[in-house]
Amino acid sequence: MNIADYVARNGRKYANADALLSEDTHLNWQQLDTLVNQMAHCLRQDYQVGKGDRVALLLPNSAAFVIAYFAVIRLQAIVVPINVKLTSAELDYILGDAKARCVISCELTQQPLAALTDTVPCLLLNQPQQQLAAYAAEAIEAQHSSSDNCAIIYTSGTTGRPKGVLFQHQALIAVATMFAVEMQYRPESRLLNLMPFTHSAPLHLSLVAGTMVGCCQVVASSFSPDILLTHVAKYRTTHFFGAPVAYLLTAQHPAIATTDLSSMSHWIYGGGPMSPAQAKQVQQAFASDQFYCVYGLTEAGPTGTLLFPEHGLTKAGSIGKRAALNTEIRLVDDQQQAVAPGEAGEIELRGEGLMREYWRNPAATSASYSEAGWLKTGDIAVQDDDGFYWIKDRKKDLIISGGVNVYPREVEEVLSNHPSVQEVAVIGIPHEEWGESVKAVIMLVPEANASDTENALKTYIAEHLASYKHPRLYSFVDDLPRNANGKVLKHKLRQS
Ligand code: AMP
Ligand code: MG
Repeated sequence: MNIADYVARNGRKYANADALLSEDTHLNWQQLDTLVNQMAHCLRQDYQVGKGDRVALLLPNSAAFVIAYFAVIRLQAIVVPINVKLTSAELDYILGDAKARCVISCELTQQPLAALTDTVPCLLLNQPQQQLAAYAAEAIEAQHSSSDNCAIIYTSGTTGRPKGVLFQHQALIAVATMFAVEMQYRPESRLLNLMPFTHSAPLHLSLVAGTMVGCCQVVASSFSPDILLTHVAKYRTTHFFGAPVAYLLTAQHPAIATTDLSSMSHWIYGGGPMSPAQAKQVQQAFASDQFYCVYGLTEAGPTGTLLFPEHGLTKAGSIGKRAALNTEIRLVDDQQQAVAPGEAGEIELRGEGLMREYWRNPAATSASYSEAGWLKTGDIAVQDDDGFYWIKDRKKDLIISGGVNVYPREVEEVLSNHPSVQEVAVIGIPHEEWGESVKAVIMLVPEANASDTENALKTYIAEHLASYKHPRLYSFVDDLPRNANGKVLKHKLRQS
């Protein structure tokens, strides 16, 4: 079994059915399969791509991305999708670490490549249908094994350098099967893809899993509330996966009240939680309760846990009580012993969807597994009396002040409810007596000013949290340092 054959199989089975739709592309499965073959011939002939070679994709969501992704895998090469927002320096690092044979980009994304120190052959794929027309279309014959490597996803790197997460076919098959079953994908389903395919969740849960089933992929190169609403209405999509912020922004868009969203059966979010208040606001605005929350991480496929609509409001903020298909979960202490109910422990995951290893980084690989195939997630959680898991924080972000644990996320949640606060990051900074003390770094709403707000926040926090959790230091900034996926880089804040 291998994922290279999904497109070929659909080309035979659903030849004339819609495979890929976007503003400027309309491909059925047979056409997509032909383009994947032509792309594979192009890569083999012009760039000598063969088994095990790494080919980087620096492309927004587009037909070009989908064609290139499956073509690289069809050649038994290893596909390396790279976030298009990265800087030249970040690209340089990843292309060097992956030792990419070539990189496929387009007009929109070629600019940072120009400044690379080591030149990597670059293929500009602006108009795949025209550009590939001259290449042979016959099927590429290859003996894939399910244990062959097929993809490296570089993690967002909220700590240090990004690491390449290496997957084999069998892991991606397990992840795709998991999501297709859990989200009831059918060949008639239409999946809306607005989150970048360069992240493991949209890529494996939507593109790969949907292609496995034969779902039509609707793609746009970026997200905006307007694009979300118009695409659902125009293409009658059934499933959408987005970060919580995509839902929060769309809920505030005036057109939501008048847009026909009735085709949607699954609104899926993940990558972060929605608070009960946010979940309620979003469900009201979308006039639907069909919300699914997924928890996972790139190293796990991403597989993890799921929160289903029946608990979407009562347990909002939790990650559900059940591990996804093909996955197991446990909470352990630092000695890998199961924690007592109600106690905080690190989430560990086990299952067929996990990465094989970090690319060329055995030390990081062995540090990330505890034993017998259990992957350390770095997320600390507690299980409530009903069995639901609640993430308290990332282990690395935990603050230990005077020997007591302070979970930054809890402090951030309180502060972000204050009307003057737009966004906040809470970190631990070294303190002589207590080991660490709590510091809040705050972006204010435009109307607020720092000198008045600090006192207001001190009063506010005293009403909501025990004193050992109070920030001893407030700092006000115009913007927070983030990685290309928008996650705040706390190690940068701790350094400054
Ligand atoms: P990534 O490195 O992009 O795969 O991010 C994975 C991390 O995002 C996890 O380890 C969690 O800390 C966080 N995360 C993912 N999904 C959720 C969720 N549904 N709720 C809370 N945190 C999440
Ligand atoms: Mg990560």
